Amino acid sequence: MNIRIGFGYDVHRLEKGRDLWLGGISIPHYKGTLGHSDGDVLIHAVCDALLGALDLGDIGIHFPDTSDEFRDIRSTILLEKTYQLVREKKYALVNLDSTVILEKPKIRDHIPQMKETLAGILQTSPSNISIKATTSEKMGFIGRGKGLAACANVLLRSV
Ligand code: MG
Repeated sequence: MNIRIGFGYDVHRLEKGRDLWLGGISIPHYKGTLGHSDGDVLIHAVCDALLGALDLGDIGIHFPDTSDEFRDIRSTILLEKTYQLVREKKYALVNLDSTVILEKPKIRDHIPQMKETLAGILQTSPSNISIKATTSEKMGFIGRGKGLAACANVLLRSV
């Protein structure tokens, strides 16, 4: 069995007047994610991890933020397209492990729904999708609530 590992990282600003999209769902908060798309950092980190595992470049190459085609697009669609590339290369996800770094709001109660959403797109069980959360201990831009970040690792196997 041929296996490949991938890593992804992303950051977005948090601003008033935007919805907070994370892990494919909208989370109630007074600030939301700013981006060319819906700004879903977790999904963007997962896309980069999937692309990285197969040496397919990064999310900016496949979905340029200068393109009108991807303006305000739901990141779940980007993840669907990315996983399609993985399947075309004859690979499938073994498991995903990720961490979201943000100060507020607490996302623990939303993690089961995020896992379900990502598992549905990645055609696997939620038990193969790990989503963890941590804060930045009130330090830096994340600690001040100016933004959030996510990192993700994936393992793929050839099928
Ligand atoms: Mg991004």
